[in-house]
Amino acid sequence: MVHFVGAGPGAVDLITVRGAQLLSQADVVIYAGSLVNPDLLSYVKEGCEIHNSAGMTLEETFSVICQAEQAGKMTVRLHTGDPSLYGAIGEQMALLRQEGIPFDVTPGVSSFCGAAAALPAEYTLPGVSQSVVITRMAGRTPVPERESVASFAAHGATMVVFLSTGLLPQLRQELLSGGYAPDTPAAIVYKATWPDEKVIRGRVDQLPQMAEENGITKTALILVGGFLEEDFQRSKLYDPAFGHEFREAAR
Ligand code: SAH
Repeated sequence: MVHFVGAGPGAVDLITVRGAQLLSQADVVIYAGSLVNPDLLSYVKEGCEIHNSAGMTLEETFSVICQAEQAGKMTVRLHTGDPSLYGAIGEQMALLRQEGIPFDVTPGVSSFCGAAAALPAEYTLPGVSQSVVITRMAGRTPVPERESVASFAAHGATMVVFLSTGLLPQLRQELLSGGYAPDTPAAIVYKATWPDEKVIRGRVDQLPQMAEENGITKTALILVGGFLEEDFQRSKLYDPAFGHEFREAAR
């Protein structure tokens, strides 16, 4: 059996209880060494076979899994954050299905949640935005044209941009041409929840210089939108004049 496990954004105690339990039972662990905190490997049992997938191909990791299956061993495939976001688990699940190897997925705390905690901020502020766009700039992995950053920028919603720290001049251009005002608040969160986490605040038109001045070239999220300001309406949920299923409105 193969368990895909979300490692969380960095801090070792931000893996889920289930994820940590699976890690401690695993006979084989394949972890994405480029982003997963290696301190998480302190959860594994003695004799556990450990592979860093950073230097491996899909075929190589799959062959490790097949050998483990033949030997009746349990494999944990450890992915950074939550595996469903830019985790390349789709292709692994397809192969496992093809071979009839059973698997399941344990979710993780995504880095975009770690970044909100680092700021700290609420992405869905009433009167500001009620939607979060999670996207990336096209790199070696293409992004469909209909999903361009400029097209999302037109909504003015909260935006979280992954995998794009190396493309900030282009990102800035797309955000502005899509309709964000140059002075729209923006932030860069580097290594959210890691000991060397950094939060840099500024405006959309300053994004490239914010990264440059702080020497940030990777492992960061770009956050854009009015949610980074203090100006918002209070929620209906906790408004005394607004009743709901669990609380009567005050008269
Ligand atoms: N599945 C992961 C994302 C993997 S893609 C998740 O749910 O978070 C890798 C990208 O995620 C990085 O290029 C960076 O943009 C972002 N990232 C991952 N960990 C991060 C962290 N701790 N702080 C900021 N960004 C992070």
